[in-house]
Amino acid sequence: MGEPDVRPRILAIDDCPLVHQLLRHHLRHESAEIHLAGGATEGLAMAKSLRPDVVLLDIDLGESGDLDGFEILSRLKSDEVTSDAAVIFLSASASTEARVRGLDLGAIDFVAKPFEAAELRARVRSALRIRQLVRMLAQKARIDGLTGLWNRSYFDRRLEEEVSECRRYGRPVTLILADIDHFKRINDEFGHPVGDSVIERFASILSTGRQSDVPCRYGGEEFGLILPGVSAASAIEVAERIRRRLSEERWPGRDRLQVTASFGIADLDGCRSGGDAVALVAAADDALYRAKSAGRDRVYAVAAREPRRSA
Ligand code: GH3
Ligand code: MG
Ligand code: MG
Repeated sequence: MGEPDVRPRILAIDDCPLVHQLLRHHLRHESAEIHLAGGATEGLAMAKSLRPDVVLLDIDLGESGDLDGFEILSRLKSDEVTSDAAVIFLSASASTEARVRGLDLGAIDFVAKPFEAAELRARVRSALRIRQLVRMLAQKARIDGLTGLWNRSYFDRRLEEEVSECRRYGRPVTLILADIDHFKRINDEFGHPVGDSVIERFASILSTGRQSDVPCRYGGEEFGLILPGVSAASAIEVAERIRRRLSEERWPGRDRLQVTASFGIADLDGCRSGGDAVALVAAADDALYRAKSAGRDRVYAVAAREPRRSA
């Protein structure tokens, strides 16, 4: 579910061809891709498309660019796509004033030119470690600790995004809300650790779908499965498959344990009030409530385009 394991990327923005050559040479044994830009415009464009982990940035770009390193840094930091890059200034003009200004603008380090190869490499490695840590923290903040599924805050953000994508491109998006039946009894009868393992098992069943599915832990024993590009009619089959798999699960050593869940489904067309993310959740929740009331262990969908009377 995380980003694929790719080699980190370093982008150097410097107007001097000799510096390019030296960097390429000195950093050749680091396990990172090195990309080189000769000026501000090229550097900013490359930063946007490459999304480098580390940027080595010259302050004085001479004739080649209309922006200096400080201005480039400000632009990198104010663009969401590039703001996480760790920027190291590489400069001959490393006065205290320049260092303070650069650090205040968000650079993490300075290397004075002419640079010592060993020091340059060590500072680059340190910047890469920091990037790795920041990325790991950002990833952890979106993942549920028990199940490894996306967590609630990611669910909220992603559903909003999918709903607006769906609006823009006129493609369907469907939400399945699932809730384990009588889960409190499972905890009471078998204990919380068994309850936890039931939640984990259900999460792994939810994760066996398509790559584009977005399985989330909505809270406690409730789950949300966002299905971009999928209609409610197809989502019923998805939910039915999950429902059946859960009810057929065997729990070694706990013969009396039988776990089922109820499912509520809504697509954008099934929502009131123009169909935003909040309305989609409310509609799926309503369908889930009906599934529970009708006896649990079943799938209910809000019919698409069916005009719904207000209460
Ligand atoms: P229903 O069929 O109507 O959904 O009944 P229910 O018992 O599943 O629903 P209820 O909301 O009454 O109870 C949910 C229980 O889930 C209460 C709470 O203690 C338990 N729970 C929530 N999070 C966790 C968790 O992470 N681990 C465990 N073991 N239990 C949890
Ligand atoms: Mg519940
Ligand atoms: Mg429940």
